Amino acid sequence: MKKNNRGYFPKKGIARDKIFSEMNHARRADVGWENGQSWGLVYQAGKEVDQIIRETYTLFSHGNALDPKAFPSLKKFETEIVAKTASLLNGEDETVGTVTSGGSESLLMAVKASRDQARSKRPEITEPEIIIPASAHPALDKAAHYLGVKAVRTPLDENFQADMDALRGSINKNTILLVGSAPAYPHGVVDPIKEMGELALEKKINLHVDACLGGFVLPFLERLNYQVPPFDFRVPGITSISVDLHKYGYSAKGASVILYRYPELRRHQFFVLTDWPGGLFGSTSVTGTRPGGPIAAAWAVLNYLGEEGYMRLTKEVMETTRVLKEGIEKTGKLEILGSPVMSVFAVGSNQLDVYTLADLMAEKGWQLGRQQLPAALHFIVTPPHTKVRENFLADLEESIPRVEEGPEACEGIAAMYAMMGTMCDQTDLKTFALNYLDQTYRLESKPD
Ligand SMILES: *Cc1c(COP(=O)(O)O)cnc(C)c1O
Repeated sequence: MKKNNRGYFPKKGIARDKIFSEMNHARRADVGWENGQSWGLVYQAGKEVDQIIRETYTLFSHGNALDPKAFPSLKKFETEIVAKTASLLNGEDETVGTVTSGGSESLLMAVKASRDQARSKRPEITEPEIIIPASAHPALDKAAHYLGVKAVRTPLDENFQADMDALRGSINKNTILLVGSAPAYPHGVVDPIKEMGELALEKKINLHVDACLGGFVLPFLERLNYQVPPFDFRVPGITSISVDLHKYGYSAKGASVILYRYPELRRHQFFVLTDWPGGLFGSTSVTGTRPGGPIAAAWAVLNYLGEEGYMRLTKEVMETTRVLKEGIEKTGKLEILGSPVMSVFAVGSNQLDVYTLADLMAEKGWQLGRQQLPAALHFIVTPPHTKVRENFLADLEESIPRVEEGPEACEGIAAMYAMMGTMCDQTDLKTFALNYLDQTYRLESKPD
C-alpha cells in the first residue's frame, strides 16, 4: 500500500493559546473585509450586529435543525424567518419556504421543486429544460447539472437585461422553468420580471426570481422612494423567490431563504424515505444535519435590525454607492454598465484596460472582482465602504494614469492576462480552471 505522509494528525491535543495564535496568524492573510477592502464576499452591518451574530451563533452552534421535535427552538426561528421574508416580498397567505445554507442551495431547491412538479404533472416531459438569461448566477447551471436538467442560456439586451424575444424563442415543449434575477450579480441590473411573469403564465411554466442579492435591499429602497422595478410576489406568474440572509440580510454565513408562492410546489422540494431501518426519514433540503448557528443568528439579526435598521443601512449604502459612481464617472475614462438599481454595479471602459487597473488597485489593497463579456470590474457596496470611499477614489485617480502609461507600468501581471487571453478555446479554459482548483486545494507536505 502506498504511504500517505502529506497530512499529519496531531498526536496530542494542542494548547488553546497555540490554536488561537495560529488561527489569528492565518487570518492576517485574509482580505481586509472589516476595512471595506473587499467588494463582495462579506456583508457587514457594524459592530453591534457583529456582536449579536457571534453570541447567537455560538449559543446554537450545537443545534441541529434536522429534527424539529428535538429542536423546537430552531423550528420556531426558521418558520419565523420564512414568514418575515415572505411578508417583506409580498407573499400570499399560503406562501411557504425553507431556510437553506445559501443562495446555491436555494436555487438547487427551486430547480428541484420545479423538476419534480413537472415529473408528476407533466410526465410527458422526459428531458426538462430551464431557461436562464446570460447574467443569471452559475449556481443555476450547477443545479441543472446536478439534477439532470438542461440549462438553456439566453442573451441579454443592450441594457444588460434578459432579452424577452430570446426568452420567448427558447421556450419549447420541454421547458419547465424561467429564471429572472433581481438583480443579477454581474451588473446589478434587474430583469424585466413583470414581462417574464406574463410569459410564464401564457406558457404555463414556473418563474423563479433570484433575489439572492436584492431581496433585502429592494423592498427598503422602495420604502425610501427609489424607483424599483416590480420583482416580488406582487408580480403574477412568479412561483418562487430566493433571498440570501448572509448577503444584504447582514447575517452570518450559511443562511438563505427559498420561498414558494403556494405549498404544493414546496412539497416537491422535500425528500422522504419510508422503509429505512433507522426510521421514517424526512428532510426538507440538501443538508441532513442542519447547523443551528446560521438559523439562530439570522433570526436574531432580522429582529434586531427590523425595518428601521434595514432602511438605515440601505440608505447609507445607497449614499456611498452614489459617491462612488459619481467619482468613477468623473474620471472620464470609466463607465457604469447598464442601469443598476441598487448597490451592485459593474465598471467598464473603452479607453483603458480595466484588468490592469484592478492589478494596480490590488497593490493598494483593494480586491475587485474581474468580469468578462465585456471586461469590467465588479462592485458590491456595503456599510464598511462608507469610511473608505474617498480613499478608494483617490487611489483610483492615482492608478488611472499608470494604466495609460501602458503595460510596462505593471509588467508581469499584464503578461499573464495576455497569456490567458490566448486561451480562448473553451475546453482549454475549462482545463485551466480545473487545474487551478486541483492546485489550490492540494494538500501541503508535513511541515517538519
Ligand atoms: C450570491 C448569489 C447566488 C449564490 O449564493 P451563494 O450564497 O453564494 O451560494 C445566487 N444568485 C445571486 C444573484 C447571487 O448574488
